Amino acid sequence: MTRRDVFTMAAAAVGAYAGLRAAPAAAFEVEHSDAEWRHLLTPAQYAVLRGHGTERAGSSPLDHEFAKGTYACAGCELPVYSSDTKFDSGTGWPSFWAPLPGAVDTTEDRGFFMIRTEVHCHRCGGHLGHVFDDGPEPTHKRYCMNGVALTFTKTSGTEG
Ligand SMILES: [Zn+2]
Repeated sequence: MTRRDVFTMAAAAVGAYAGLRAAPAAAFEVEHSDAEWRHLLTPAQYAVLRGHGTERAGSSPLDHEFAKGTYACAGCELPVYSSDTKFDSGTGWPSFWAPLPGAVDTTEDRGFFMIRTEVHCHRCGGHLGHVFDDGPEPTHKRYCMNGVALTFTKTSGTEG
């Protein structure tokens, strides 16, 4: 692979991402038009998942949820985090040190004069939050999630 190849691939990736932001391309397993998303989601969910917004810190009851269970994407119901990786980061947002395998993807988010790593759902592309490198053992990652972008389902029956 030459440097030119790498550049071409990078340019293609950036182009694909820019296209995704402008109008949904056929890149995700779950696709809806903007009008459909507005119908399917609450205004608060839409603002985060489709508008890349951030909920107010401390506003999500899931920040204080520590029961055993699974957190799914509010856009497409794909399970994205387990309670096993949840921790209290003290930030006011539900935080995890690892996603479920293959459940989320990340992209570079350049805005507000800093570069952050955006986390989005693997299946519908919905914006979930950001990931930082100041998390606890064993990954040292802090997946800082918007609770409104998640739905929590308690594990019933056996305690794991
Ligand atoms: Zn999703």
